[in-house]
Amino acid sequence: MERMRELVDLLNRYAYQYYVLDEPTVSDAEYDALYDELVALEKELVFVLPDSPTLRVGGAPLKGFATQKHRTKLYSLDKVKTPEELAGYFDRLRKSVGTLPELTVELKFDGLTLSIAYEDGKLIRAVTRGDGETGEVVTEQVRTIRTVPLTIPFKGYVEVQGEGIMKYSSFDQYNKTAEVPLKNPRNAVAGAIRNLDPAVTAKRKLDFFAYNLGEYHGITFETQEEIHRFLQENGFLTDDRFWVVATPEEAQKRLDEIEAERSSLDFLIDGAVLKVNRLSLRDELGYTQKAPRWAIAYKFRALEATTVLQEVKWQVSRSAKLNPLAILEPVDLSGVTVQRATLNNISDIQKKGIKIGDRVLVRRSNDVIPEIMGVYQAAENGVEIVPPSVCPACGAPTKQNGVFLYCTNPEGCAPRIVSMLDHFASKPCMNIEGFSEKTAEQLYNECGVRTPDALYDLTESDLLSLDGFKEKKAANLIAAIERSKRVSTGAFLFALGIPTIGKKAAHALAMRFGSVDAVAGATAEELTAMDDFGAVMAENVRAFFADPVRRAIVERLLKKGVNPLPETEDTGEGVFSGKTVVITGVLDAYKRSAAQKLIAERGGKIADSVTRSVNLVVAGRDAGSKLDKAQKLGLEIIDEAEFLRRLEAEM
Ligand code: NAD
Repeated sequence: MERMRELVDLLNRYAYQYYVLDEPTVSDAEYDALYDELVALEKELVFVLPDSPTLRVGGAPLKGFATQKHRTKLYSLDKVKTPEELAGYFDRLRKSVGTLPELTVELKFDGLTLSIAYEDGKLIRAVTRGDGETGEVVTEQVRTIRTVPLTIPFKGYVEVQGEGIMKYSSFDQYNKTAEVPLKNPRNAVAGAIRNLDPAVTAKRKLDFFAYNLGEYHGITFETQEEIHRFLQENGFLTDDRFWVVATPEEAQKRLDEIEAERSSLDFLIDGAVLKVNRLSLRDELGYTQKAPRWAIAYKFRALEATTVLQEVKWQVSRSAKLNPLAILEPVDLSGVTVQRATLNNISDIQKKGIKIGDRVLVRRSNDVIPEIMGVYQAAENGVEIVPPSVCPACGAPTKQNGVFLYCTNPEGCAPRIVSMLDHFASKPCMNIEGFSEKTAEQLYNECGVRTPDALYDLTESDLLSLDGFKEKKAANLIAAIERSKRVSTGAFLFALGIPTIGKKAAHALAMRFGSVDAVAGATAEELTAMDDFGAVMAENVRAFFADPVRRAIVERLLKKGVNPLPETEDTGEGVFSGKTVVITGVLDAYKRSAAQKLIAERGGKIADSVTRSVNLVVAGRDAGSKLDKAQKLGLEIIDEAEFLRRLEAEM
C-alpha cells in the first residue's frame, strides 16, 4: 500500500509538470512504466486510491484562461503495446459483441487535444481537453491555426475533436531563428496554444488534425468512416492513413505499415488508434471512468531512451559556429543504434546541467540527429563540460556571442570553409551537380580553394589532379559549375551563407528587393518591415554586406559571370527546386500538362527544348530526338518510374 501511495504521488507530480506546466521532467517511457506498475498493483490489491491517475484524464486548466465545461466528456484511451495485448483486447470485444466488429485504424497524433465548436457554419469556440470534464477556452489561439477552418459548409451545431500539432518542418524553421529554442514539437504545441497571447500561437505555425466528433445536432452518422468523410468534406485536415479492417490480421498489417512510415512523417505520432466503426455498438460498449471501451491505442516503441554521455566534441559549422556534439554509449532507439546527439549550445548544456558521465535522456524525432533532452541520472563524479578556448579544428581562439561559441578565424578554418563551399554548391543554392562535401575537401586541400568565387576559376586540368577525377567527371563538374552561373537571386543569396538567412528568407529578400545590389543597400527598417523578418536577421544581412571581405567575394562572383536572375513568384518548393525540366515521350500515369504542373508545384521550371541549361529530362515511352540530345549533352535522364518515385517522395 505504501508503494501505491508513493506511485500515485509521483505520477500526479509528473502529470502536473507535463499537462499543466508543459514541462515534463521524465520521459514518457518512464512515466508509462510507473503507470503500468500502478495499474498492476491496483489490480492485485483490488483497491484504487481516490486520487489515482488511473481514474483521471489529463490535467487541470491553467489559471488565466476562462474555463468551459465540456458538453460531452473528452476521454483518454486505454493502451496496448504488443500484438498479444491487442489480441487480448480483441477477445474482450468478441465477448461483449458476440463477434469481432469492424474496426477503423488511424494515426494516434501526439499533440494537444482540442474540441472546436461550430454553429451556423462558423467557429464559435475552441477548448482544450483539460481534465476531460473542463478545459481552457483557447478560441483566439486556435483561430490562428491555418488548418482550422473558420467557416464550414455544415450549418448545424458540431464539436470537432482533434489534435493540435506542430510539424517537424515548422518546428525546425521556428528554432532556426528563435532565441529560446523549443524542446520538442509536442510541448511546443501545448505551450503555444496555452499561451494568453494569440500572436505567440500564430508564430509557431501549428496544424490541427481532426479525428472525432463530440456533440452534434442536425445530422446523423452510423459509422466512424462517415465521420471521417464528414470532416474531410468540411475542410478539416485528416490523414489518409485511415482504414476499415475486419480481421486481426488486417489490423496488424495496417499497424505495421504505420510503424514503418512513422519516422518519415512530418509530425509526431506515438501509435495508432483502433475504433469500433459502428456507432450503435459504441453505445453498447460504453466507457470506463477514463476511456471508451470501443477504442484502443496501440502504442509504438518509444523514440526516447537513456544512455551515458561519454564525450563532447565541438564541430565547426559554415558560419564558424562551434556545435557541441554528444558522443554516447550506443543505445537502441526504436530499432536504430544511436551514438551521437546534439547538445545545441553552451547555455542549453548549462540549463540542463549536463555533465560527462551522466545518464542522459535521448530522443530521436523524425530522421534528424537525436537530441539530448536532459539528465536522467547524474553521475557521482560527472565531469563539467568546458567550452574550448581554442577552435579544435584550427587552433584559433574562440569567442562567445550570445549562447554560441565561434572560431575567430573564419577565413582560415578548414572544416568551416569546406562546409561553406559544400553549402554554396548544394541543390537549393547554386545547384552544382556532382559536387559533394568530399569535392569541397579535395578542392580545399589540393587546389587551394578558400572562397566560393575560386570555383569559377577551376579548369579541367585542375580537377584531373584530384583523386577519383577522370576526364568525364572533370568535364561534367566544370559544365555544372558553368551552368550554376544562371541562378535565381534567392538561391544566390541563400548560397552566400548569411547567418540566420535560410532558403525562405533569401527568397523573400529577392522578391522584395529584386537584385543583390538592392538587398545589399537595404536599411534595417526596410528589412524588418518584411513578414517574419526579425531584427537579428536584418542586422545579419546588413553586417554581411558591410563586411569588406564578404562584399569583395560577392563582387568577384558577379565579375566571374554569376548572373542572379530575377526571382519569379514562389513556384513552390520541393524535389525539383532549382531544376529546369524537360518531359519527352509518353507518360502512362499523367498527361503531359498534369506532369508539368506537378513539377512546377515542386519548385521545377519547365522547358520545351533540350539545351545545356536543362538539368533533368523525364523520358517516357517512345522518346526520340530530345532524348538523344540529352544523352549527348550528358544531362540527367530519368524514366517514368523514377519520376513517380520522386513525386511520391514529396507527397
Ligand atoms: P494518450 O495521449 O496516450 O492517448 C489518448 C489521447 O490520444 C486522446 O485523448 C486523444 O486526444 C489522442 N488521440 C490522438 N489521435 C487520436 C485519434 N486518431 N483518435 C482518438 N484519439 C486520438 O493519453 P493521455 O491521457 O492524453 O496521456 C497519457 C500519456 O501522456 C502517457 O502515456 C504518457 O506517455 C504521457 N505523459 C507523460 C508524462 C511525463 O511526465 N512524461 C506525464 C503524464 C503523461
